[in-house]
Amino acid sequence: MRRQRKAKIVATLGPASTTRKQIEALFRAGADIFRLNLSHGTHEDHKARYDIIRQIEHDLDRPIGVLVDLQGPKLRVGAFKDGGTDLKLGQAFRLDLDSKKLGDDKRVSLPHPEILEAVQAGSNLLLDDGRLRLMVTKEGKDFVDCEVMTAGRLTDRKGVNIPDAVLNVSPLTKKDREDLTFGLDLGADWIALSFVQRPEDIAEARRLIAGRARIIAKLEKPAAIEHLDEIIELSDAVMVARGDLGVELPPEVVPGLQKRIVVASRKAGKPVVVATQMLESMVNAPAPTRAEASDVATAIYDGADAVMLSAESASGKYPIEAVSIMNRIIEQTERDPSYRRIIDAQHSDPEATGNDAISAAAAQVARTLAASVIVTYTTSGSTALRVARERPDAPILCLTEDLATARRLALLWGAHCVHTADIRTFSEMVEKARRVALKQELAKKGERLVITAGVPFGRPGSTNTLRVAWIE
Ligand code: PGA
Ligand code: MN
Repeated sequence: MRRQRKAKIVATLGPASTTRKQIEALFRAGADIFRLNLSHGTHEDHKARYDIIRQIEHDLDRPIGVLVDLQGPKLRVGAFKDGGTDLKLGQAFRLDLDSKKLGDDKRVSLPHPEILEAVQAGSNLLLDDGRLRLMVTKEGKDFVDCEVMTAGRLTDRKGVNIPDAVLNVSPLTKKDREDLTFGLDLGADWIALSFVQRPEDIAEARRLIAGRARIIAKLEKPAAIEHLDEIIELSDAVMVARGDLGVELPPEVVPGLQKRIVVASRKAGKPVVVATQMLESMVNAPAPTRAEASDVATAIYDGADAVMLSAESASGKYPIEAVSIMNRIIEQTERDPSYRRIIDAQHSDPEATGNDAISAAAAQVARTLAASVIVTYTTSGSTALRVARERPDAPILCLTEDLATARRLALLWGAHCVHTADIRTFSEMVEKARRVALKQELAKKGERLVITAGVPFGRPGSTNTLRVAWIE
């Protein structure tokens, strides 16, 4: 089960991907990580899917990553008397804190005091994924009066985005805290935080997670973009969450931000996922549009670690086809003659550490010798992250004694992980690398491997050794 590509596929599971047969088909088609989206479904549903993933992992003997995605502070208006109201251009409309009173054509509740605190006259409120826009004209103690700037029908419990404001809300609501405990007990490898606004948001989550999973910050708020480098620094990985990002900001700025976020993440050596609407039309059609194929390819040329499917695999009509076509687009893009030149153009120099020096040398030696594979011995995964940062030609075989590390690294560009006992001697290091590379079909007889490790073994410390070996 080795992939013929470096970039990874994250597939969201949902009603369309529930049975063992469906999930295994998604894995075989190319899904490397499964996302459980806690914005939908019950804990029972998610646990059932989680258990199936672990069975497949066991039966196929390949580590699989599980990403538990927390909903975050998604703000919503209350319900209406008649299910909704038609908002006309220029009309006045009030949002207030009275959640007991159903909405009508003059007002509706917005039971979030933090919003009223954060907005002022002139602030924009986007409703229903940005389909409607209101501008605040007057603030009261427990209400705001607005003017309708983009008209349309507003219905029960639609989402509200406030792009201009930093809200005084924790990115972890009460529901998120419950979902987080659930996800950690389940054994999630990655926890995704939605609507991160400030670096402190990550710190708070990290305290609660206490080392039991790694953190993905979803970049979907303008405020987060203002602190981009700090947020990347504090997170273990990031997601370009283009769905909400494209509501909070005009759609035309999303492509540029995608480039900026991918470059910054690659520079920091943190995995980056490009997400949302990548093959959106495949929710209802068995083939993607040309524009969608091109969008997936763009993320691959940028050097993203992973691309993600949402509704396409969770609730669409063609989940397996969506993963298959994504797999094919990635393979084809990575074989394109211009791929290497484009990827290298955004490459950052190694930092002045032993680990980076060895990683850069490994990539260079592997290229010069046309080695089939770079083998890294890694415990926490940090060595593998630095090798992947080089974006080498050869695949990276990550050998780790920690199963959690093997699962997490399923997200990492170029990484093929094998869970295996630790080594004690230099000759064992070379022997095991040969054996596993051969068995995993990463190298054949007569081919070369480049091995990196930290010597002496079994002691945490930085990588200091580079060895070239043959498969005899
Ligand atoms: P979501 O996040 O699918 O959880 O909303 C991704 C995005 O907003 O793009
Ligand atoms: Mn989102």
